[in-house]
Amino acid sequence: MSELSELADAGIVENDVPLGPLTTYKLGGPARWFVVAGDSATVARTIEAARADSVPYLALGRGSNMVVSDTGYPGLVIQLGGELSAMEIGASGIVSAGAAMPLPKLARACAKQGRGGLEFLVAVPGSVGGAVRMNAGCHGSETGDWLLDVETYRPDRGVITVKRDEMEMSYRHNSLPLDDIVLGARFRTEARTPEESEEIMRAITQWRKESQPGGTLNAGSVFKNPAGTSAGWLVDSVGLKGMGIGGARVSPRHANFFEAGHDASAQDVYDLVAEVRRRVTAATGVVLEPEIRFAGEFSEESGTEVAWPAPTEARKEPTEHVEEGEPT
Ligand SMILES: Cc1cc2nc3c(=O)[nH]c(=O)nc-3n(C[C@H](O)[C@H](O)[C@H](O)COP(=O)(O)OP(=O)(O)OC[C@H]3O[C@@H](n4cnc5c(N)ncnc54)[C@H](O)[C@@H]3O)c2cc1C
Repeated sequence: MSELSELADAGIVENDVPLGPLTTYKLGGPARWFVVAGDSATVARTIEAARADSVPYLALGRGSNMVVSDTGYPGLVIQLGGELSAMEIGASGIVSAGAAMPLPKLARACAKQGRGGLEFLVAVPGSVGGAVRMNAGCHGSETGDWLLDVETYRPDRGVITVKRDEMEMSYRHNSLPLDDIVLGARFRTEARTPEESEEIMRAITQWRKESQPGGTLNAGSVFKNPAGTSAGWLVDSVGLKGMGIGGARVSPRHANFFEAGHDASAQDVYDLVAEVRRRVTAATGVVLEPEIRFAGEFSEESGTEVAWPAPTEARKEPTEHVEEGEPT
């Protein structure tokens, strides 16, 4: 009997758990194996079982940067919870947060206690673990700017602490090994009145409301911004706003947000990302790099037809262009 089967018999892991509801796209099939790990011992036990069975594993935060395949994920999906959702603010203003802590909750809790710096996270609908992995950022700040250290589970090493200067963190990149599971993080903060922090968060959420397709199913920015320009502006310049494949389309509101309609499949999103990328490269020579993560298997040649062709506006010449506070 496999080790994961034994953990399933013991009620520690589950089989065939739908992942769509756990992501902001609400798309995709089930995890072959699934665990909500409430402490580091459960993380260690389940990962080591997956490794013993030669089964791949994947950390899922709040699924706000993730597209799960329609066929699901053929391995173990680990979502953190329990004591890994807690946070506390020390006397020196150092914030310790579990990896499962939602970022907006973290930003608001710090603000309430007169600690500033993390207000930008109010607009990022992910978890602390996802933010550390992605080096999430917006409005002039990145996670790495405030991070002191992380606690992570590393296969063959166990639970270790990694200091900020031992990680290379750049735009949407963290050099932590891909098989690490972040368990928690410590952040520095600065003294700021709750009113000041509230005002900063109000301005950020207002800006989002005005410039992003709220109320739609998406995973934030699809592509990273290439140096000196914005991915959304490039996509728009090629006239692709509104272009769709199957049930997925480029948001008519923000060209770097791709929305899923209720009839969309994960493959539609995948195909749309591939097609937009191809067209932007053909028109501008710029090869866009996806920021969103795909989990599971996707077909390269699904043969889906492009629908809702974009309005045939004159193509704009790409120039240096990054929008103020552009989220990615
Ligand atoms: C409306 C909207 C707006 C957004 N705006 C922004 C923005 O302004 N700036 C920005 O940077 N992003 C933005 N995003 C994207 C997303 O919220 C961030 O990337 C966020 O950090 C992802 O966190 P998550 O917990 O949802 O991670 P998930 O989407 O669950 O996972 C993302 C990646 O992180 C890994 N991961 C998750 N948890 C862990 C863990 N504990 N240990 C190790 N790896 C882990 C996953 O395996 C995956 O590779 C936005 C998304 C949406 C839907």
